[in-house]
Amino acid sequence: MTEELFRADHYLRRCEAVVSSADDRGIVLDRTVFYPAGGGQPGDIGRLVRADGSAIAVVDTLKGAAPGEILHVVAPGTALPAAGEKLAAEIDWARRYLLMRMHSCLHLLSAVVPAGVTGGQVGLGKGRLDFDTQEALDKDHVAAEINRLVRENHPVGVRWITDEELAAQPELVRTMSVKPPMGQGRVRLLEIAGVDLQPCGGTHVAMTGEIGPVEVVKIESKGKRNRRVNLALVG
Ligand SMILES: [Zn+2]
Repeated sequence: MTEELFRADHYLRRCEAVVSSADDRGIVLDRTVFYPAGGGQPGDIGRLVRADGSAIAVVDTLKGAAPGEILHVVAPGTALPAAGEKLAAEIDWARRYLLMRMHSCLHLLSAVVPAGVTGGQVGLGKGRLDFDTQEALDKDHVAAEINRLVRENHPVGVRWITDEELAAQPELVRTMSVKPPMGQGRVRLLEIAGVDLQPCGGTHVAMTGEIGPVEVVKIESKGKRNRRVNLALVG
């Protein structure tokens, strides 16, 4: 099992680590700051810096087949480190911070639109959520509400509840397509105090003000009961 430092501190850019294994699927470390793709958020890219100063480029981060396995994916043909090698893991922070801002922004969007979420994607400076609703959504209203929540600069934090507590509060689960990871005894909730509370394993900004101004690019009808809201960060 890899120690998931990125879950405890979303702002951690670098850590020392030891190689657990490496093969053509990817490099497994004993601990990492690299977020593996999941929950609509892309995996981190970055580099693994070896003792001699040379670096191995990480082109993606994925969850492996084994529970808790995190694969640092490298380009084909890359010389792999040996198990036991010490190195420093560094994410591409500018890219990750953009993803954090958009991921937190999508939580604001889900708080503004009162409907179940059937899908979503966190992108670089842009993102979208699909809502299970027949209602027409007003673009200007959605934009005004999101930007108000950004300006109000709400704190964003993590809270844990037990599987039993979550089962007793099914209204917390807004994503209809993805079931939160239950069965480990507890579930991680992302809380924007007074605004949004839902299971989420992603990485987030500490205050909604960090998101900055947001534009609603377009709202599409994708079928009878599906409205897709596309957002972009302005700068
Ligand atoms: Zn989330």
